[in-house]
Amino acid sequence: DSVIHWFRGDLRLRDNKALSWADEKARSKDGTNLVAAFFISPEDMDAHVRSPARVDFVLRSLQVLKDDLKALNIPLHVGWVDKRKDMCAAVIKFAQDCRANHISANIEYEVDELRKDAKLVKEAASCGINYNVLHDYCAVPPGKLSTGQGKQYSVYTPWYKSWLKYLDMNRELLDELPIPSPNTSVACSKYEHLFQETIPEAPDFKKLPDKETAVRLQDMWPAGEAKAMDRLEAWLNAKALTDYHENRNIPSIDGTSKLSVHFAVGTLSVRTAVRLAMQRNGNKLSGGNKGISCWISEVAWRDFYKHVLVNWPYVCMNKPFKPEYTNIEWDYDPELFDRWCKGMTGCPIVDAAMRQLATDKWMHNRCRMIVGSYLAKDLLLDWRLGEKFFMEHLIDGDFASNNGGWGFVSSAGVDPQPYFRIFNPDLQSKKFDPSGDFIRKWVPELRSVVGNAIHDPWSKLGAKACTKLGYPKPAVVHGPAREKALARYKAGLGRD
Ligand code: FAD
Repeated sequence: DSVIHWFRGDLRLRDNKALSWADEKARSKDGTNLVAAFFISPEDMDAHVRSPARVDFVLRSLQVLKDDLKALNIPLHVGWVDKRKDMCAAVIKFAQDCRANHISANIEYEVDELRKDAKLVKEAASCGINYNVLHDYCAVPPGKLSTGQGKQYSVYTPWYKSWLKYLDMNRELLDELPIPSPNTSVACSKYEHLFQETIPEAPDFKKLPDKETAVRLQDMWPAGEAKAMDRLEAWLNAKALTDYHENRNIPSIDGTSKLSVHFAVGTLSVRTAVRLAMQRNGNKLSGGNKGISCWISEVAWRDFYKHVLVNWPYVCMNKPFKPEYTNIEWDYDPELFDRWCKGMTGCPIVDAAMRQLATDKWMHNRCRMIVGSYLAKDLLLDWRLGEKFFMEHLIDGDFASNNGGWGFVSSAGVDPQPYFRIFNPDLQSKKFDPSGDFIRKWVPELRSVVGNAIHDPWSKLGAKACTKLGYPKPAVVHGPAREKALARYKAGLGRD
């Protein structure tokens, strides 16, 4: 027999809770092998709005994982399951084929995933198989932190203090888990057919980038666990890390780690990242070097939003965290939305950011906030349209962080920007792209514009010059748009 580890959002060998558990279980009984599985359901990917860039990154990481597992003589079965409702049956069938009594996986916190796991626990048990799920995706597992009154935190700062205290008192949570030990070759020969060299392709699978994009993404976002570690180590030794607190808001500077895609698909463990950053900071999680402690506090936001998802699962159901925000009247103007999607709003910083997303499949955090606020509060479009568009395009699309980010900018989420605080995109642009270099990089129409006019060319250069440059007229004027948004928010919230 065998023990199966079901890989999902944890595409790595190192520091992987459920994989380590499965490895120990397999080693505890002679003649038992560790076998790995990954199941792909196109229907599931659609339901979770997985972008082609992210799907491609997962498949590339999976190939690396398969090779790494092969070196340990651990077979990886990759199964395609057309209908998501058939997933549990496919997992159980595979377990039965491998004569497995145990299946392990790391818990995914989205409601659909929890339901799927609950179903599998029951169905597996009725076949005599133990399905064991463990917490792995956060540095501090959900459920561990609560306020003095025993409630869940809905504000980041007190939550973060509690997160720091908990990790400080339980440093062993950050201890590295070893990679699994190799299977013995003899015992494994019966799984020979699972060692096929490449991942089988589904014939009608459309969720992949075109060839040219795929090549570009490969260079830009190298996949797999080893590349994630390379990137982390380079980041931990970069000056950008110690300057992070100063530069992390400037999109023209390469001042952030760009590790989000690795966290999103699990090629990097968040515990590994926090542990190594802490070590680099004289073993401190906070204090010490300002850049490093600031970076750890940003990584903590990821945990925060996952905790929110666990505590208030209705955020998974297209509902705002703050129920009263359900009543805000949004415009559903397809032309305005299309201009936002295409980076043709006539607001340079917004257009630059949206074009960065279209090309790199990633967007700087400051820009995510600017374009999000612009969609909800300048264009008055439903923030859920933006949330979905991000998932359709981001390589690092992650439900909890994306939903949390959109909740923040639209004011409908947990610990949000107050509804009456409305970013002025021109001021944001002047403050965070003072040289205009970020705009010049992404908006070629404006490359020749010098000085401050780059932030607001229609009013500074005039209609004639902008038409000549081929740059679109602003979709809205911020002042009146802001007044309109305030009135809508107040009306929706029943405030005077
Ligand atoms: P760094 O600045 O190096 O930060 C390190 C890590 O900390 C990130 O990789 C990420 O895992 C975490 N992190 C940093 N900031 C945040 C934050 N505000 N919320 C949650 N985690 C954070 N992040 C995603 O991973 N996936 C998303 O789909 C996503 N959607 C977003 C949508 C909006 C509207 C906003 C405002 C933010 C969103 N973020 C999302 C958070 C953040 O923008 C990205 O994590 C960050 O830009 C990734 O770049 P980086 O790895 O260089 O980050």
